Amino acid sequence: MNIRTKLFLGIGILAGLIILLVTISVVNLQILTVTEPDSPLAMPRLQSALIWVSVTGGICVLIGLTFLVWLPRSIDRPVKELTRGILEIANHNYGKRLDLKGNEEFRRVADSFNKMAEQLTKYRASTLADILSAKKFLEAIVNSINDPIIGLSREREILFINNEALNVLNLKRENVIRESAEELALKNDLLRRLIRELVTPGEKKEPLKIYADNKESYFQAFYIPIKNVEVGEDEWQNLGDVILLKNITEFKELDSAKTTFISTISHELKTPISAIMMSLQLLEDKRVGSLNEEQEQLSKSIKENSERLLNITGELLNVTQVETGKLQIMPKITKPIELIEYAIKANRVQADRFNIQIEVEYPEGKIPKLFVDSEKIAWVLTNLLSNAIRYSKENGRVIIGARQDEEYIELYVQDFGKGIDPRYHQSIFDRYFRVPGTKVQGSGLGLSISKDFVEAHGGTLTVESDLGKGSRFVMKLKA
Ligand code: ADP
Repeated sequence: MNIRTKLFLGIGILAGLIILLVTISVVNLQILTVTEPDSPLAMPRLQSALIWVSVTGGICVLIGLTFLVWLPRSIDRPVKELTRGILEIANHNYGKRLDLKGNEEFRRVADSFNKMAEQLTKYRASTLADILSAKKFLEAIVNSINDPIIGLSREREILFINNEALNVLNLKRENVIRESAEELALKNDLLRRLIRELVTPGEKKEPLKIYADNKESYFQAFYIPIKNVEVGEDEWQNLGDVILLKNITEFKELDSAKTTFISTISHELKTPISAIMMSLQLLEDKRVGSLNEEQEQLSKSIKENSERLLNITGELLNVTQVETGKLQIMPKITKPIELIEYAIKANRVQADRFNIQIEVEYPEGKIPKLFVDSEKIAWVLTNLLSNAIRYSKENGRVIIGARQDEEYIELYVQDFGKGIDPRYHQSIFDRYFRVPGTKVQGSGLGLSISKDFVEAHGGTLTVESDLGKGSRFVMKLKA
């Protein structure tokens, strides 16, 4: 029975009883009206009228009270049941079902509720299955990558690791998933190094030498932070990191073949170039015979080009020294002014040719001596001064100097030439890099070798430069 029918029935019964009560009252009233008050029938009729009215009135009150109690209860109970059901669903308990007996409306509500819960159960099962299959798919992708890859949570727990990484790290999957990488690193050298590099960002990462594929291999580690923006948040949250090891053995082998090749060629070229220069010296010797003006010009040009060739082969040899790790520093006590004088002497001809004035800034008082490989540092200073002259305008001026900065000595070269765009302040120290559009001839090696030489002494080489204003290169060495 539905609530409407119940209400109709209840109110109908009540209305019927009230009508009956009124009719009985009216009939009795009429009977009493026609009865003489003194007649012997008056008393029994009055009593019978009172009984009828009281009984019917009592039944009306009883039925009314029954409705008053039963009707709200019959609505309240299923509503409470329904509320409890909704709360269970809200708490992801999709197994909850309702069984509301009695009212037809509530039975329909319970049916709809149960259908909804069933659909939600199916939906959850399907999303869970989808998520699981997507997870499996991603794991398959990660495993099919030939490079070792490790995924870490924010707390540095290993979330995923592919077979290649397990192989390289000599670990077993069942022992690492969901384990703290930092704890595992205590017993694993390679993992320790990877974690250490992860927590010290910014440092230059050297390739890792690892025994893999039955041979010594080289891997370059890449650290990729995983970030995400939570719903309703503005800031990027760090979710963890991925460590990717790229096998660079092939490149390393090619690189070392290239270095050997450059080294051999440079050595081989040095001898013929020296022979050309010796022959030129003989040619210029008046005792051998005098040259006419045209021949003199030609010999000058041959000399200049041979010197350039000799410089380049020298630079290439320096590069190979650095790259093969054969760079040897032989330090001795050196006065900074000696290095400056050497650099000026080496660049005198070039400076005169472009009419560049070289100014020396050297403190009056005593400046501490340096303990450096004077040949190497003189080479760097010569190279910086040569750059300053080459990249200055004719008739310009350059400054070379030294100053003490606490326990450091700064050797600097400043020019007022074209300057360097800040975009290239890092790249000019890379091998073979030349600022785009540079017309002056060069190899792009000088600054990179200079940086290597200075860093091999534990010093730094930096640049301050603005376009159109000139550049200042500063070499900072421990006094
Ligand atoms: P090179 O001068 O042989 O090209 P370097 O390694 O010495 O090689 O310099 C790299 C590049 O940096 C140069 O090609 C040039 O573009 C730029 N550069 C270096 N020194 C200066 C300077 N003093 N002024 C302007 N540009 C410079």
